[in-house]
Amino acid sequence: MNSNRYKILVVEDEANICSFVKTILEANDYQVLVASTCQQGLMMFSSHVPDLIILDLGLPDRDGLELIKAVRATNAVPILVLSARTMENDKVTALDLGANDYVTKPFGTAELVARVRAALRTRRTADSFSAAPGGKFYLEDMVIDYDRRIVTVAGAEVKLTQTEYNILALLSEHTGKVLTYSSIISTIWGRIDEGSTKKLQVNMANIRKKLGSKPGDNRYIINELGVGYRIQDPPTAPGDDS
Ligand code: CA
Repeated sequence: MNSNRYKILVVEDEANICSFVKTILEANDYQVLVASTCQQGLMMFSSHVPDLIILDLGLPDRDGLELIKAVRATNAVPILVLSARTMENDKVTALDLGANDYVTKPFGTAELVARVRAALRTRRTADSFSAAPGGKFYLEDMVIDYDRRIVTVAGAEVKLTQTEYNILALLSEHTGKVLTYSSIISTIWGRIDEGSTKKLQVNMANIRKKLGSKPGDNRYIINELGVGYRIQDPPTAPGDDS
């Protein structure tokens, strides 16, 4: 009996996709629970308390977005949205309701496993943040020192404005999560107006430039076009997924 395995709830009504996902996850040593409707998903969520939910948005009884709302009312469990819908609006709505990330169908094995690992890491990061506020964030040669509000790349300090630092720190506190434009704007500036997105893009361009990242280069910060930004996933430490 292996009690430290992560428990993942898959809510998906298409049997072939469901069994594909289940097979991949079990091959990676995750424990898998399956539900095919929104209602069944909610019931299994409360009785089994999984470490992660993989959720299809198009379910037969209710919209998957309803499940995100219901779960988020009480619980911070990572939610990875799985959807054939390629419309940006659905992704953005799901993320703004509290989903951590999304995978668009059709997806490959490696992509799914990477997203699952990153989403599970969110949970661990959140735990360690509450246990030890401050501390440091490491990503390749970049270090964020939260106590001193200093960012270094390869040991050299990067001169960021307060706003630029706040944006970078916000992204780093949400590894494994896509932050939508509006969620970043409302956290950093408190309100959204006409020029907000442009203001965010300008700040982001400056952050990238100061970090030494070339335009279009997805180093440190990944631009999810039309949706938002995510911090690059830190490498998995040996034994990290045990
Ligand atoms: Ca479906």
